[in-house]
Amino acid sequence: MEIYLMTWPEVESYLKNKKHLILPVGSTEQHGPTGLIGTDFLTAWDLAKAVGKKTSTLVASPLCYGMALHHMAFPGSGALKPSTYIQVVKEIIQGYADQGFRHFSLINGHGGNIPSLQAAFSEILSSNQDYTLQLFNWWHLSSVTDYEQKNFGDANGFHATCGEISVTMTCYPQAYEKKKTFEFFPTVKKTAWPLSPGQFRKTFPDGRMGSDPRLASAQHGQVIFERAVDEISQRLMET
Ligand SMILES: [Zn+2]
Repeated sequence: MEIYLMTWPEVESYLKNKKHLILPVGSTEQHGPTGLIGTDFLTAWDLAKAVGKKTSTLVASPLCYGMALHHMAFPGSGALKPSTYIQVVKEIIQGYADQGFRHFSLINGHGGNIPSLQAAFSEILSSNQDYTLQLFNWWHLSSVTDYEQKNFGDANGFHATCGEISVTMTCYPQAYEKKKTFEFFPTVKKTAWPLSPGQFRKTFPDGRMGSDPRLASAQHGQVIFERAVDEISQRLMET
């Protein structure tokens, strides 16, 4: 049920019965010395594909770049400014709305996107009151946070978390076959926010924010992934 593998007549025929579209949104940014740079869009995209299958809902292609300016001092990261990101999200949604979609469920993999997504939603809804916009920040789901708290405690951290790294270990095991091991040390827990790219790198020198990714595993990732798919699917079906 992914749009990129379909033809336009198939999408047109879907729209005769259903107006719901899932849009995965994430980021391309450093995830500590051991996590994948694609973590935030890969997790959102894989969850979106599984939720789309489970609920028979169409899934749009992922938005792989997000509001990640604070990660830009780490090579490999890419980012859009908040104003650009808000505009991109609005234009993607409006384009699909012009074709007949009315219900949009965004599955998000990156905390830095949240303020801009909320701003985009407010702007869209101010002139289109028959649209339904839903935001799922998968790592905030109660079934996910319960599991992470029990298994990782405070070591889950806030960025390059054990939970998100576990999910990528499940979905992309081949990417971890040759990764080096690193020494881990405790990081600062609280800081002023937002930070400039340079301030972020100085405060969190290896890119992690309070996490100990040595606790991550593909086994944990499998459980977290299944919990997230179930909880999002259930809430998506209720709309
Ligand atoms: Zn992340």
